[in-house]
Amino acid sequence: MGDSAIGGGAVATTRSRKSHTPGANIAFAALPADPREVFSRIAVLSLPMVTRFRGITTREAMLVEGPAGWAEFSPFVEYAVPEASRWLAAALEHACTEPPPPQVDAVPVNGTIPACPPGSVAEVAARYSGVCTFKIKVAEHGLDSLAEDCARIEALRTAAPGAQVRLDANGRYTVAEARTALRTFSRFELDYIEQPVMDVEDLARVRADVDRAGLGIRIAADESIRKASDPLRVAALGAADVIIVKVQPLGGVRAALNVIGASGLPAVVSSALDTSVGLSAGVALAASLPASARPGEGIPACGLGTSALFRSDVADPPLRAAGGVLPVGRVTPAEERLSALAAAPDRVRWWTDRLQRCWDHLRTSPH
Ligand SMILES: [Mg+2]
Repeated sequence: MGDSAIGGGAVATTRSRKSHTPGANIAFAALPADPREVFSRIAVLSLPMVTRFRGITTREAMLVEGPAGWAEFSPFVEYAVPEASRWLAAALEHACTEPPPPQVDAVPVNGTIPACPPGSVAEVAARYSGVCTFKIKVAEHGLDSLAEDCARIEALRTAAPGAQVRLDANGRYTVAEARTALRTFSRFELDYIEQPVMDVEDLARVRADVDRAGLGIRIAADESIRKASDPLRVAALGAADVIIVKVQPLGGVRAALNVIGASGLPAVVSSALDTSVGLSAGVALAASLPASARPGEGIPACGLGTSALFRSDVADPPLRAAGGVLPVGRVTPAEERLSALAAAPDRVRWWTDRLQRCWDHLRTSPH
């Protein structure tokens, strides 16, 4: 590709440079018309999942190889071009430039306890060897789940004493329900609760109520953060104490670092149901979080252990936590996995067309 499209120096020198300009960005307007001039290889994959998640049992993803390595472009299929284009910006960055220098060589991940019967919690937790932070799904049926949610928390406390506990309500409470639930949850020592209510203004109301009542539970924004301007809005409204950030929706590692810095809030890096290639970009972001985004000690446990949700992943071995941590570094897909997981021809056509439309959007829209 033309070197002029890459900020902060030519591609060829980006790899060897020790220090990197954190703000280095791709000059989208200078990109060639055909993405194949930048990506030497493009693969469309269909990954079977262990269990239904986000309403799907198969995750489709496009992987692209650029001058710096492989990257992932996997906006969910229902996303329209403007939103999906941000995911492409992230893929371009990862395929064409090296991530900012990491502060650490491994990042911790959290275990996830689904809305399972409390009696199954110990068995699920045991799958996460070395993990010190767990996230428990709550509010599956709103307040009707409250007694079982508490039993699940207690079961985890017994199974993993000393582990840090987070809750995730996925926005399922009303403001009034959240008040009741959070009062109940306040007897547990929690790291935070993600998205007790869906609307960001409601989130601010709940957080103010938590403060007034002295409940001592931090509020994290997850679903409220889908694009670069969202963390700033969350911060401006005082809607959360912590933001959950994902590389692809925010447009790349550097864009994410910029919005995290501008929000002034602590950040926890998570995945958007990425393959191992996309997860490695999340690891790169977590490993380069500035001290202001991770008050306290070390990198907060990341939601990047999601390769376990795939029956088969693109890398061999997949990027899975060992001893509770993921290594920092690029991931290259295995050739036999690219063949075995190749999507059907009609889906390849659909994704190739989507890539071109998002590419054209990036080249022609002001950023
Ligand atoms: Mg969440």
